[in-house]
Amino acid sequence: MESTKFIEVLLPLPLAGTFTYRVPRILNQLIVTGIRVIVQFGKKKLYSGLVISEHNQAPISYEAKYILSVLDEQPTVNHIQIKFWQWMASYYSCNFGDVYKAALPGGLLVSSETILHLHPEFDQAEEELTDNEYVVSEALEINKQLSLDEVVKILNTDNIHHIINKLIAKKVVIVDEELKQRYKPKKAVYLELTDAFNSDEKIKAFFDDLVRAPKQLKVAQIFLSLSGYFLKELKPVKSKELQLKSDSASSIILELVKRGFLLKLELEESRLDFNKLKIRQPYDLSDSQAKAYNEINQFFEQDKVSLLHGVTSSGKTEIYVKLITNCLKQNKQVLFLLPEIAITTQLIIRLKEYFGEAVAVYHSKFNQNERVEVWKEMLKNENSRFKIFIGARSSLFLPFHRLGLVIVDEEHESTFKQFEPAPRYHARDSAIVLAGLFKANVLLGSATPSLESYDNAIQNKYGLVKLTERFGKVQLPEVWIADLKKERQQGMKGIFSNLLINEIRKSLANNEQVILFKNRRGFSPFLQCHTCGWMAPCTRCDITLTYHKYSNQLKCHYCGYQINPVKKCGACNSVQVRTVGFGTERIEEELQLLLPNANLKRMDLDTTKSKNAYHDIISQFDNAKIDILIGTQMVAKGLDFKNVSLVGVLDADGMLAYPDFRAHEKAFQLMTQVAGRAGRKSKRGKVVIQTSNPYHFINLRVIDGNYTEFAKEMMRERKEFFYPPISRLVKITVKHKYPDKLEELSDALGVKLKEAFGNRVLGPESPPVSRVRNMYLKSILIKLNKEKSLLKQKQVIHEIKENLIAKYKFPIFGVITDVDPY
Ligand code: ADP
Ligand code: ZN
Ligand code: ZN
Repeated sequence: MESTKFIEVLLPLPLAGTFTYRVPRILNQLIVTGIRVIVQFGKKKLYSGLVISEHNQAPISYEAKYILSVLDEQPTVNHIQIKFWQWMASYYSCNFGDVYKAALPGGLLVSSETILHLHPEFDQAEEELTDNEYVVSEALEINKQLSLDEVVKILNTDNIHHIINKLIAKKVVIVDEELKQRYKPKKAVYLELTDAFNSDEKIKAFFDDLVRAPKQLKVAQIFLSLSGYFLKELKPVKSKELQLKSDSASSIILELVKRGFLLKLELEESRLDFNKLKIRQPYDLSDSQAKAYNEINQFFEQDKVSLLHGVTSSGKTEIYVKLITNCLKQNKQVLFLLPEIAITTQLIIRLKEYFGEAVAVYHSKFNQNERVEVWKEMLKNENSRFKIFIGARSSLFLPFHRLGLVIVDEEHESTFKQFEPAPRYHARDSAIVLAGLFKANVLLGSATPSLESYDNAIQNKYGLVKLTERFGKVQLPEVWIADLKKERQQGMKGIFSNLLINEIRKSLANNEQVILFKNRRGFSPFLQCHTCGWMAPCTRCDITLTYHKYSNQLKCHYCGYQINPVKKCGACNSVQVRTVGFGTERIEEELQLLLPNANLKRMDLDTTKSKNAYHDIISQFDNAKIDILIGTQMVAKGLDFKNVSLVGVLDADGMLAYPDFRAHEKAFQLMTQVAGRAGRKSKRGKVVIQTSNPYHFINLRVIDGNYTEFAKEMMRERKEFFYPPISRLVKITVKHKYPDKLEELSDALGVKLKEAFGNRVLGPESPPVSRVRNMYLKSILIKLNKEKSLLKQKQVIHEIKENLIAKYKFPIFGVITDVDPY
């Protein structure tokens, strides 16, 4: 007899290891690594676990439960993905289960969800209910059942657990767990010719019968041509399409179904767009592009990661296109990684023009169902139409099977690092590891490389390839400084210096466009009491609420708390409460007063929430419907406009003053990138930087564009203070509701970590915002020595942390480890 089969199952939960389950004999044949199975875990919860391996060893410390069912016929996850995820969990000190949860699109993670039903014996008249309890019971009378998410919506609070517990105790509700399959294929009604009409004669006879029903006849005729009948290639016709093309009501189609001419069927439809663009041949590379291209290929032959340092508009994208073409010839897949905000329609269209339907796009503005469809299409392996994947960081988790090339564009972008929740991975660094598993080539591209990558190139670990001129010998822009101190002495009042406003006027007079940039960091507008200086605070976080004019609300940027603007000071009751500071809205307002006839548009997180908003603004700007585009980081990225002659950087000081060891590097990168939007083919562009610090080292390097000098100076600082790329960082954040509990653990952690790492431990200290969502925070930074095993150093940190958490009975979720924080 066959021995009992056991499997190791990975759960989408913050758990370090796998769990052993038993396979019922009838399912034995179906089990392979990488398929999803439904298992029970915890009291009554069901999850879709992932089969990691099979064996015959019953677990020692617990009795293995049976798996409940098998979800896949074919693996959803392949061996290389599993390896990659294991690496990620170990490098970024997080749980294997966290990676699984992040990797699969939510639609493929079936999980049980708590469903509330009204208790059969509940009688509303008899019970004493609070308002909230009453609302829930009322909703249940109507809806019969509610999910917890629905209760959250109805009560308008996240904090529903105590309410639910009360409701259970009072026998108002009962709960049960229901499996919820989240991915729903999109279905549409199609029509087919029924089998009865299998010859021209029969159809002709039917049409003769229809002479007195001309509307039906028309629909039937149009149906035939749409169905490919005359081409002898029958295919189902979408009911909606038939209605549209024949301009008829659905009732007429229904008549034809009743007469037995048409058959209705429901078919799954793809949500992915199949829009066909004309395929273009790539451009011929210029001499300097061709030289760079050859150098890259030589480094690839030596199995080296290549860093392409090419100034803005040097034609990097065209080089990428050539490399992609090459990779496709070898029948391999390409991953093209970009930061979320740089995945623009412009770029996608450009790539689709070359590669057509082989291009798939995968990022967060895609909904769950669309992501599942990309994943499922990829599982067809050789038969999948997709070969090139453009995506933000989460596209690293896709089921590649023959990855040949990874391109990381804008590789310096800090948004490649995932903040919250775990896994807190860096997509560029992880991509290099992923490529290693496939022996695929890697190209990093940027006009302003990160110091990490540049240092690797200087150390000869990466190959360095330079493109120092713009394509077509277009000149780099001319950078001017508006000295705010001087300008203020000369009477400057609001946000705009004379220099900048005059340049804007000149551009508009020439029918040219302008981009104004204000970094998101620094200060946003807030309300302040003019009498005593009081500012409206968030009640849950240690931060001032910012003022949003558009929605006329005061909002907390950390927790989302919002209130109507206060009219009176919360401290002294004075009514002299005014807005201070400036964000993009203030800029728009002030500029419109100065230039009443100009067309202005803001592009920031607020105005681009919906899926197409971003694209709409870009195309309006492209079509010259907007004169001046005002924006945050978003305007600096990957956009290519023909008519922009001027770029204004409104607040360089805010960027330079930010308390972070990377602030200067980021300021240089952002200013250089945004400057790169100015001036294209025929005319040299202009950039005006407003600053009170005209001789700041970073401002000078933006003016002369000397990256090498910039990098030298930065590396000197990093060496002096032992920061990356000289060292590696691990950041521990501790949070707790009570400051004394917090202090107890963070102090103990500080002491133990200093014993192990000496003066390479900074903190514990309160971060700039020291309370978020009612939790107090402390952070500790540890500088690891790159020359020694990083894994061992991280293990030491992990052990110290686990021991102290246990000792102080601290909630495990109250201590967060962030490896390579940004
Ligand atoms: P980057 O990605 O370095 O910012 P792009 O690839 O966007 O630069 O190139 C800048 C502009 O030059 C684009 O409009 C692009 O179409 C054009 N361009 C680049 N290379 C070529 C080429 N070899 N032939 C024709 N046009 C090119
Ligand atoms: Zn006051
Ligand atoms: Zn808050």
